[in-house]
Amino acid sequence: MLNIILMGPPGAGKGTQAVKIEQEFSLPHISTGDMFRAEMASGSELGKTVKEIINRGDLVPDELTCEIVKARLSQPDCANGYMLDGFPRTLPQAEALEKMGKEINRPVTMVINVSCPDEELKRRITGRRVCPKCGASYHIIDMRPKKEGVCDLCGSELIQRKDDNLASFDTRLSNYYKSTAPLIAFYKERGLLFDFDGTIGSENVKNEIFALLRGK
Ligand code: AMP
Repeated sequence: MLNIILMGPPGAGKGTQAVKIEQEFSLPHISTGDMFRAEMASGSELGKTVKEIINRGDLVPDELTCEIVKARLSQPDCANGYMLDGFPRTLPQAEALEKMGKEINRPVTMVINVSCPDEELKRRITGRRVCPKCGASYHIIDMRPKKEGVCDLCGSELIQRKDDNLASFDTRLSNYYKSTAPLIAFYKERGLLFDFDGTIGSENVKNEIFALLRGK
């Protein structure tokens, strides 16, 4: 069963790989960041609660985050596998996920960890442009859309995420090292961790990940 976590610092390429994996293996792509952004766009109470936190690059409280993940993982489309992108990000979240995985009989079977040096992460994040409609990701130098400022896939106007600025990036990176990086040891201990070098080009990273997933 492919019950996967995609892990790595902001800008490592999780979102890019998630789209490729989703298409190839038909796994529901569960991105907590996308879920929160959808709540913010809809103006819901949850959206209003998390907006400030997210825009400054901080982490949403564990309890709130775990609640939306549990509801999502319990849905029928996750019975034959799922892919978590951006969750868990803290030790309490990883522990909660382990508990809920047992409860709903959908435990994590594999953790894909993509790494990348800090300077490269900063370059990627500050040059990133995204499609607010379909979530496709571009870069002003590395991955330009065919038509400037317009999404290749759905034709919407590209934007820069509010948290893709230098100050928020610094906060997100330090939160990553403080809260998320310790999860590498957590999953290594459980024999679930697989490491990938995020600097070898997205097609190469994809090929390596696909080879692992096909072997399972
Ligand atoms: P992402 O799209 O994964 O970069 O997430 C964007 C932002 O949403 C993060 O910087 C956090 O503020 C928030 N967020 C997403 N996932 C989580 C999580 N698992 N725990 C806490 N906050 C999260």
